[in-house]
Amino acid sequence: MKLLLLAAPGGGKGTQGERLASLYAVQHISSGDVLRAEARAGTPVGREVAGYQRRGDLVADQIVFGLLVPAVAAAAARGGYILDGFPRTVPQAVQAFDVARRLDFTLDATVYLNLPEPVLLQRLLGRARTDDTAEVIRHRLQVFAETTSPLIAYYRDRGILLEVNGDQPAEAITAEIQARLPGP
Ligand code: ADP
Repeated sequence: MKLLLLAAPGGGKGTQGERLASLYAVQHISSGDVLRAEARAGTPVGREVAGYQRRGDLVADQIVFGLLVPAVAAAAARGGYILDGFPRTVPQAVQAFDVARRLDFTLDATVYLNLPEPVLLQRLLGRARTDDTAEVIRHRLQVFAETTSPLIAYYRDRGILLEVNGDQPAEAITAEIQARLPGP
């Protein structure tokens, strides 16, 4: 199984990523986690990453591709992945599709978890990540609306978008995704 999860910050990509990865026995790859790990490692690239994340800005594509492509290629070789957070913009999706054709990693579906903004805000404010302050959250929601949400139409046009109500219990969301995915 090869899936991409798309949702606004606070939308539950991480939770569904883990649940779906164990359900389909593939790897969950969270771009946010991969980038945070690099930041924690304190490498020169990691220090750059930390700056973008602290502000709630998207990390530069060159850094993102450098860290994510090897991880995705390795998972593809082991049978699949649940991608969470990458690609995150239309230019990233176009570039990733190009790389994917060369390395043979593609997407069976893109799952869009749709939630109303008040629910997102409430969830984010209840979390304790360092980029979850009110000001940075507002900025990340704006970045999603402007830069990531065009991916919804991008994947719909390609016929692989599955839109799910993300304001349900986690178990119900997983079950709905499983029921609606074209399965073996
Ligand atoms: P959320 O979706 O809740 O904001 P993530 O863990 O997915 O949380 O992302 C946190 C941060 O990591 C983003 O604000 C951004 O700085 C960076 N990031 C994650 N994925 C990408 C990506 N594909 N391209 C650029 N930056 C990214």
